Amino acid sequence: MNKPQPRVTEVNRPFWEGVNAGRIVLQHCLNSQCGRVVFYPRVCCPYCHRGEMEWKEVPGEGRIVSHTTVHRVHHDGFAAEAPYVFAAVELAGGALLYGQLAGAPTEGVSLVGRAVAAEFVDHGPDRRLIRFRLASD
Ligand SMILES: [Zn+2]
Repeated sequence: MNKPQPRVTEVNRPFWEGVNAGRIVLQHCLNSQCGRVVFYPRVCCPYCHRGEMEWKEVPGEGRIVSHTTVHRVHHDGFAAEAPYVFAAVELAGGALLYGQLAGAPTEGVSLVGRAVAAEFVDHGPDRRLIRFRLASD
């Protein structure tokens, strides 16, 4: 079963091109009074509402903010991977990203606060996705 694919648009294309190249490239607000990292990709900053942003690579290290274990998948394309941990990760640069967490116990342990690093996994033809892996901290 094929997995659902992200819809690549003119707004989010730099992000997906970065992921395919093994890099996390996020928007940064150019307003000096704001300067926040913005994710998901948008046409203007959600914090100060200005439209001037630039794309910059950010490190793939972060910490788990929240997680859950997926037993019943939302799409049959993920059935072979269940159960798996799905985590919200705050990157060191401040952006919140979501993704599967590889190599983590699926039951009985809180992973909140644990350090992770991003990795890039094949997700169908010409597409990679960000996945996280527990760091040895
Ligand atoms: Zn801003």
